[in-house]
Amino acid sequence: MLPYGSLEGAELDLGRKLTLAEKLWYGYSAKKSDYILFNHNGLFLFLVFSLVPLPYVLIELYWFNNMEKFKLQPRIKRSSSELLKCYKDVVNKFILVVGPLIGFSFSALKWVGIRTSLPLPSKWEVISQLVVYFLIEDYTNYWIHRLLHSKWGYEKIHYVHHEYNAPFGFAAPYAHWAEILVLGIPTFLGPAMVPCHIITLWLWTVLRQAEAIETHSGYNFPWSPSRFIPFYGGAEYHDYHHYVGRQSQSNFASVFTYCDYVYGTDKGYRRHKQAVKKLKEQVKKQLERATK
Ligand SMILES: [Zn+2]
Ligand SMILES: [Zn+2]
Repeated sequence: MLPYGSLEGAELDLGRKLTLAEKLWYGYSAKKSDYILFNHNGLFLFLVFSLVPLPYVLIELYWFNNMEKFKLQPRIKRSSSELLKCYKDVVNKFILVVGPLIGFSFSALKWVGIRTSLPLPSKWEVISQLVVYFLIEDYTNYWIHRLLHSKWGYEKIHYVHHEYNAPFGFAAPYAHWAEILVLGIPTFLGPAMVPCHIITLWLWTVLRQAEAIETHSGYNFPWSPSRFIPFYGGAEYHDYHHYVGRQSQSNFASVFTYCDYVYGTDKGYRRHKQAVKKLKEQVKKQLERATK
């Protein structure tokens, strides 16, 4: 809820005219409580994990043959009932774990300084904060994920997320309730260390979830804009982690590749990539010899 009685009051307080975006924000948020605005996060999260995987679902169910060359594990094709079962589980955990967590985190978010008021942050403030959040999340998630691959962590908690060794979009948030809670820490840590406007927090929630869905999509499209992000892991990178499964000691990072490189946990993946490359070259040579 904004502490101004009118648009004019807001302009008087800021000492300048409001931008169009600020007028729109005023119109939307002036009469809404901060609690309602904070809880939009849950709504956005629900919309993202329900809608963003849909193009991948359509490809898997209806256009598989045309898109097979982009599928990372083409021998595995999911049925509609498998996809629906996973989605139902995600929705259940959202209702029982994520929704209440978002509701209860209101005081903490308020306490760390997440604001709903005017002025709105500049474009560069939003971008730089999002970059910082991704870096903090990636680093913290890397170490938690490594711990989850200990014997105890895997057998008690992380095995659920690895039920699908050929992941798909809906499987991104598919995990044990304890993992969902614990991985809330890396997500929350960035905004706690560098507090932002609520709009930046919504964007952070949406982008992080969309990134996780792409990473778990099972498809590696050459036209994906994420390919232009430096040190970005992407679908192929995380797909390998799921493909190896329980024994995986490679590719723990959630977003970027540098943690695995620095701590030496991408060796298995690099060896695998080299072996695949060598195999492809051998097959190509054999085909060339056969056609001569
Ligand atoms: Zn794992
Ligand atoms: Zn995963």
